[in-house]
Amino acid sequence: MNRIGGPMNRIARREFHTFEASGQRYLYLVPSAAVVRLDDAAAAVLGELEHGPRSRDELEAALTPSFERDTIASSVAELMHVRAVGPAAAPPERTLKVLPPAAFPLTTMVLNVTSKCNLACTYCYEYGEDRIAQNTTKAMPRFLDDETARQSVDFMFKRAGSNQIVYLTFFGGETLLNFKVLQSTLTYARQRAAEAGKHVEFSLTTNGTLLRPEIIEWLAENNVAVTISIDGPRELQDRFRVFHNGRGSYDVMMPKVKELLRRHTSRPIGARVTLTRQNLDVVGIFRHLTEEIGFREVGFAPVTTANGRDYAIEDSGFYEMLGQFEQLAWEFLEQALQNRHHGFSNVKDTLEEIHKGASKAYPCGAGMGLMGVATNGDVALCHRFAGSEEHRLGSVTEGIDAAKQAAFMNDHHLADKTDCSKCWARPMCAGGCYHEAHTRYGDTTRPNLHYCEWIRSWTHTCLRVYGELAERNPAWLGRFDHETSPQEVS
Ligand code: SF4
Ligand code: SF4
Repeated sequence: MNRIGGPMNRIARREFHTFEASGQRYLYLVPSAAVVRLDDAAAAVLGELEHGPRSRDELEAALTPSFERDTIASSVAELMHVRAVGPAAAPPERTLKVLPPAAFPLTTMVLNVTSKCNLACTYCYEYGEDRIAQNTTKAMPRFLDDETARQSVDFMFKRAGSNQIVYLTFFGGETLLNFKVLQSTLTYARQRAAEAGKHVEFSLTTNGTLLRPEIIEWLAENNVAVTISIDGPRELQDRFRVFHNGRGSYDVMMPKVKELLRRHTSRPIGARVTLTRQNLDVVGIFRHLTEEIGFREVGFAPVTTANGRDYAIEDSGFYEMLGQFEQLAWEFLEQALQNRHHGFSNVKDTLEEIHKGASKAYPCGAGMGLMGVATNGDVALCHRFAGSEEHRLGSVTEGIDAAKQAAFMNDHHLADKTDCSKCWARPMCAGGCYHEAHTRYGDTTRPNLHYCEWIRSWTHTCLRVYGELAERNPAWLGRFDHETSPQEVS
């Protein structure tokens, strides 16, 4: 038991976020990203400290006779141990600037097989009003060729270091416009993996309009995880996801997607929905895509765009979105309590991060464990920056510019995001997506302060769902002890 000392050695609350689940009080401990449940005595100690720092004697005087002296002392000791309380005189714990090792191994390579698309979605970051690659001075090939694809695979294995599993994600433009190179790249990567004694997991994102029987067969036979970009029922899909002549894409893609879902059952086919101001019926979209179409997983992301665009989600839209996310999160909980599947992947992903105690110095793996490769072989922070000269880290033939990568890690560390330094959600958010920050503020180092309320509210909801599961079906959470997941690519 830690003795706190006399009246001069006062103790105070440290940094945590409180939440309730299943009638129990919990703490999310910010410096360690751990979740702990409070018993009555610990809750009483924290309640008393809410009024200001107290000495041990003052705490005992305030909390007896409701609690035994020994109980109070051991609660204080436990709270000290998890750093929920600490010496009042000690300065607040700051995020330490510890930079990752220079030769950070690659986990995920996102290969842009084409920069061309047969759709012209208004909000697209590749083609729309906010695209980054327009700033590049170099002409970019529209298609990745076989030689560059092979060099990219070689680069991936070289950078993977001791990682036994590497994730290769095909991206575009519309990936299926370059099906020939997809095929040859997969074959080559398999061969290289066998030689290196490693395993490659393949995934692909597509708009679904170009799926045809032989492609579906190939995806199924090769166990390729597929994500379909789709906005929902016909009227929502056809508002923004249109062909170049303005025609909606729903009727073209849907029979093909249904055939994919019927034939390709070895991997769950996911849907990825972009939410816009005009498209915030999250629950309705989820029902359509899961119950009517048959997707197993559906993930939602708000559109990335500069402020003021017609489709940008404004504050009231974020609240509407949050309300619907919460509805699906509670549905997810009800299903999980009965060990049943629910396909709302946003909540599952956040629960996994909470369970694994994710404490991020960087919002994602971009520029470190994840890199995007452009059609000319240039390597960028991630797929969304592929082709941007400003965000180029090197190339698959020359390798990575170590000084540039080190500068990126130095400039983007959470410890330097002063706006985030007092935010309890920072272990999970770490300032948010660099691409969003670049689009919104023209600067990847800036935290995405326009969506803090949304992030904190959503994280709070997921903590409550997590606590409910921890109380009522802890075995369900055990799945995260075994699963390894690639970073989500969207
Ligand atoms: S961007 Fe906002 S929510 Fe995210 S860590 Fe910073 S302050 Fe917190
Ligand atoms: S979160 Fe943003 S910066 Fe990170 S990989 Fe995804 S798109 Fe790229």
